[in-house]
Amino acid sequence: MPTSSHLLASALVVDSDGSRVLLCRDPRVGRWGPVGGHVGGAETLTAAVQRVLAEATGLTRVRVVEPHLAVVQDVVPCPAAAGSVRHVDHLFVVVADPADPLTPEPGAAVAWFGLDALPDPLVPGIGMHLRAAARTMATQ
Ligand SMILES: [Zn+2]
Repeated sequence: MPTSSHLLASALVVDSDGSRVLLCRDPRVGRWGPVGGHVGGAETLTAAVQRVLAEATGLTRVRVVEPHLAVVQDVVPCPAAAGSVRHVDHLFVVVADPADPLTPEPGAAVAWFGLDALPDPLVPGIGMHLRAAARTMATQ
């Protein structure tokens, strides 16, 4: 049976000098990773990433600096479907200010980390994307 697909958008959130990244720990996943979520039917990818970020962190003063750093795919169990679904996730680089207050969703954790002190466990493979996102800022 072919696997159906869901479109997602995720934010690799960095500070303005690219030395810190914002990560989220979803209790259902139990690992630290980028803030992301499903794209709504009528939504653009950029609108989705800004909405998901506001919902999951409270951050609204953000700037998208790189719309398509990467697209990653994985077949995972999805709460929005019965069974496993292919998640096609567009990764954006977004700049935010670490001084802005964070308001994570109940049960979730959101925090800033130094690039050289990433938390454990981390979503597999995301470290290279975080370092690439940080380079985007360090070279501006
Ligand atoms: Zn899904």
